[in-house]
Amino acid sequence: MTAPLLDIRDLRISFQARDGSWADALCGIDLSLEPGKVLGIVGESGSGKSIAMMAFLQLLPRGTRVQGSAKFKGQELIGMPASRIQRIRGKAIGCIFQDPLSAFNPVKTLGQQVVEAIRLHDRSISKRAALKEAERLFELVAIPQPERRVRQYPHEFSGGMRQRAMIAMALANKPDLLIADEPTTALDVTVQAQILDLLGDLRAELGIGMVLITHDLGVVAGIADEIAVMYGGSVVERGPTDPIFYETSHPYTAGLIGAVPTLDGTGALKQIEGTPPSIFSRPDGCAFHPRCGRAGDACRVQTPRLEPHGGTACACHFPLTTLREPVPS
Ligand code: SF4
Repeated sequence: MTAPLLDIRDLRISFQARDGSWADALCGIDLSLEPGKVLGIVGESGSGKSIAMMAFLQLLPRGTRVQGSAKFKGQELIGMPASRIQRIRGKAIGCIFQDPLSAFNPVKTLGQQVVEAIRLHDRSISKRAALKEAERLFELVAIPQPERRVRQYPHEFSGGMRQRAMIAMALANKPDLLIADEPTTALDVTVQAQILDLLGDLRAELGIGMVLITHDLGVVAGIADEIAVMYGGSVVERGPTDPIFYETSHPYTAGLIGAVPTLDGTGALKQIEGTPPSIFSRPDGCAFHPRCGRAGDACRVQTPRLEPHGGTACACHFPLTTLREPVPS
């Protein structure tokens, strides 16, 4: 069996309120990713999907309490000294952010920024050689005329091309793991499809493992090998992609699937009524119970545990497939 590229165990993140009390933003999650595979992490804003990744990259504000374990290629990242994590971040682990316009420095050319990313981790590479490498990376991510485009500034690129440049920069140091946090949210639908195709091609070509974070199940459908659905700081359903879509057990996952627009535009979009809970006022029992049409008495007092159910693992007292109900469409 292949050793996991990323292995997260009982990861718990807490923030301190003004009154000194602590609130869990992440309630002890387990996730793992094998080399060359894609893990999709899906959930609404505030579900905890991004902070899980920010925690082990040590990008959370000082004073945040992080407990549990996150191993990358067998190395424990939680508590790793800053000087060591800096050598991993941007090198063995590349990151793609949602909004490349704000992630790039507006007063430097994109080529200069890729050169900096390369030389930050290897000063033995000359600026000229690093710029050549930037051109090669631009070509790899299908940016036309790379020799000319590396000399341009971020504002001279369209949104889709900027995201391609961001991907090129994330690939600059040949990472084993790419973390893409809402990489297509700021893009229109056709460009979104192109970027997802590109990520899929790069995974196949370079064998990189990927964590793809998104609020949209439709984004991960065609690219992820496994999906973890998060709600209220917990993983509520996890499993291979097909069972998540075709043997859905958790009512929240079913709600997210119902909210994905269909290609032919037929049928009204279903919304999940209500809003996600704040970490400072999370309901007792199942955090989803105020929004769940299936909630029973047990749901209000007992927190469900993630357990195997059908083709997935699901944290629900009354999972959908128990009653062999069709997944809401
Ligand atoms: Fe709904 Fe209860 Fe399942 Fe939570 S545990 S999702 S409230 S049925």
